[in-house]
Amino acid sequence: MKTEICILCPYGIDPGLVSKASALAPGTVRVVIPPRDAEKAARYGANLIHTVEDLPPDEGQVALWLKEKILNWGSTVVLAPATVFMRNVMPRLAHHLKAGLTADCTQLQLEGEKLIQTRPAFGNSLMATIRTCSPIQMATVRTGVFPPEEKKILNPTVSREAFHLSEGSVTLRALLRDTEGAPLSQAEIVVAGGVGIGSREGFQKLERLANQWGGALAATRGAVDAGFAPYACQVGMTGVTVCPKVYLAVGISGAVQHLAGMSGSEKVIAVNSDPKAPIFDYADLGIVADWETVIDQLLEE
Ligand SMILES: Cc1cc2nc3c(=O)[nH]c(=O)nc-3n(C[C@H](O)[C@H](O)[C@H](O)COP(=O)(O)OP(=O)(O)OC[C@H]3O[C@@H](n4cnc5c(N)ncnc54)[C@H](O)[C@@H]3O)c2cc1C
Repeated sequence: MKTEICILCPYGIDPGLVSKASALAPGTVRVVIPPRDAEKAARYGANLIHTVEDLPPDEGQVALWLKEKILNWGSTVVLAPATVFMRNVMPRLAHHLKAGLTADCTQLQLEGEKLIQTRPAFGNSLMATIRTCSPIQMATVRTGVFPPEEKKILNPTVSREAFHLSEGSVTLRALLRDTEGAPLSQAEIVVAGGVGIGSREGFQKLERLANQWGGALAATRGAVDAGFAPYACQVGMTGVTVCPKVYLAVGISGAVQHLAGMSGSEKVIAVNSDPKAPIFDYADLGIVADWETVIDQLLEE
């Protein structure tokens, strides 16, 4: 029996992930995507395309709905990009499907019907290879790790799915966005703040700069724990992974767990008042200064 790979991107396609799945299991790639991405899905190798819109912003409800769909389709490998939303959906879905889930993979292979999942462990110091024993194998994949490769599917099957739940009682009607601007994992410019920013108001200044540059705001775990920024902004081992063209690290010391999420950045600019801060070892450009002086100047420019 051919392994079918189902990719869940209900809020936006990850073309690289679809290309990778199509290389692993040609002709048996199913995707769940918003309608605007249907053409792209076929272009990168999906042949079973399900479009969905008006999903509730509630991860629990989305997971319950997807459970019914996946059991219906009989998919045995279920993948999703490691976005903040899907990182919250996938563990719930894995629980409903009694499936093993590997988070944050950077490489995937198929050996027969077994999915071989590779992911960094212990702060990126070694790579773990993981096989899942359950009949359904699930993984989230770091965004941007697989390059998109066109492989046009000429006659994909496209169907529209309606969100409907046969179980569940709590309804979340709306979710207010914590931040504006580009989605963090896909942003080309990231303005990141750490504990050195010192306050929520300080982060509002960083967010203004990120918006001016058409980029996204990010934070260290220290800053998130201090309540300066929402968890959705956290970059690092236990947050989002980013690969922007420019990463501006402001008031960030450069802990290994933070670097794990931003080491794929093309250029790193660091602003820190301590000339011995480890972040300077990773920066292409370092500015030893008080963060506010520098950011005020950049906002004026
Ligand atoms: C299991 C585990 C998982 C973790 N996961 C993550 C993760 O995903 N992401 C993450 O970020 N961290 C993570 N951490 C935490 C990590 O180890 C660090 O504690 C954290 O990254 C430090 O955040 P920071 O750089 O903001 O704070 P600090 O280390 O306190 O650094 C603050 C910096 O600000 C500078 N500064 C102070 N005042 C100013 C000023 N006025 N102007 C300019 N600079 C100034 C200081 O010189 C200092 O370098 C994890 C830790 C563990 C144990």
